[in-house]
Amino acid sequence: MDYQNTIAFAKELDSTDKLRDFRKQFFIPQHNNKDAVYFNGNSLGLQPKSTIDYLNQELEDWAALGVLGHANARNPWVNYHESLAEPLSRITGALPTEVVAMNQLTVNLHLLLATFYRPTRERFKIICEAKAFPSDQYALESQVKLHGLSPSDAIIEVHPKEGENIIQTDDILKVIDEHGSSTAVVLFGGVNYYTGQVFDMPAITYAAHKFGAYAGFDLAHAAGNIQLQLHDWQIDFACWCSYKYLNSGPGGVAGAFVHEKHAANKELPRLAGWWGTSKKNRFQMHPQFDPIPTAEGWQVSNAPILSMAAHKAALAIFDKAGMEALLIKSKQLTKFLFYILRDINEKHHRKVIQLITPQNAHGCQVSLFMLEQGREIFEALIDHGVIADWREPNVIRLAPVPLYNSFEEVWTFGNIIQTILNK
Ligand SMILES: *Cc1c(COP(=O)(O)O)cnc(C)c1O
Repeated sequence: MDYQNTIAFAKELDSTDKLRDFRKQFFIPQHNNKDAVYFNGNSLGLQPKSTIDYLNQELEDWAALGVLGHANARNPWVNYHESLAEPLSRITGALPTEVVAMNQLTVNLHLLLATFYRPTRERFKIICEAKAFPSDQYALESQVKLHGLSPSDAIIEVHPKEGENIIQTDDILKVIDEHGSSTAVVLFGGVNYYTGQVFDMPAITYAAHKFGAYAGFDLAHAAGNIQLQLHDWQIDFACWCSYKYLNSGPGGVAGAFVHEKHAANKELPRLAGWWGTSKKNRFQMHPQFDPIPTAEGWQVSNAPILSMAAHKAALAIFDKAGMEALLIKSKQLTKFLFYILRDINEKHHRKVIQLITPQNAHGCQVSLFMLEQGREIFEALIDHGVIADWREPNVIRLAPVPLYNSFEEVWTFGNIIQTILNK
């Protein structure tokens, strides 16, 4: 297709977009009485208009039934989390028995590491990406210290090659080759939060397994954003949050994946709680912990129903749209964005915007290194109601997401930048 950097062309793309009506299912933040251009779905996804009804139902049942709601609510609370497993399995490419909605992301990472990071004298290292999201760095360091080890011995970070922004797959495989036999866990993001790079999860997993290490992934920026096949890729464990691409509200309930080959293994050590034990025995206050032989066996506490109601509302929208259609539109949106950025550079006969995100391995999120007037451009974007994200020294991150963003918004973004550069 021949792209054009015009509003008419953007509108034409919108008019043929099969998912365009999904935008109406979300509240769009306002700026000067108009829809803001919301490109921050990678930090906090927008609120579906249906969320309030899902929440109200649980509030009404709580008001009407009190404790009896556990069994008698329209969606009985004791089983509430079970209804999230199917939609989550479609988003993550997992079996419903391999996924569970529970806790928060970093908490889930700790719970999964409690099981999968069991260092021995011979095998004690964790291989991870350099400059991982700070919460993940803290989690890994504290896990290592919990086992009486030193992070400087046990944590092996993979860096990009000198002068590059992106960690290439061969950089990762080289480190796994070097340290694999003394490595317990290889833990990467699915998508790097800063660069927007999608890591080659199957290749990393294959390499980790070759050396007998586990492969785990933090999918905070991947769930609901890119194609995932956690089951087929043989990933051992993974976790994600629901408030970014999954639109389930600030601090919303997170998710976890444990591959079937481990989930059914009741002997795996774990940090246990009553919600992870056999449902038959749970209310008999049995002294013996008998883990559920699915990902549910990693649950600790009873489920946060209000947060799960918001999650359920958001997941229903994903099911209506379908991951496949979302991925197609996502690719088209970013392709149009890449085209517009190239066009801006060409019109200015020099590189004013440098793309950090690799064009062959990305989801919705695109990170731009602004070579000229970065701060000024970002201020102008804010003045025009574009909600994106600024990272020092000169980086703008934006995420046109397929559920509620349009091609016209992508054009608007480029047009504002161009206006500032032309001044
Ligand atoms: C967003 C994000 C977090 C946030 O952790 P919470 O436990 O949800 O507060 C952690 N890690 C990564 C990679 C993230 O992108």
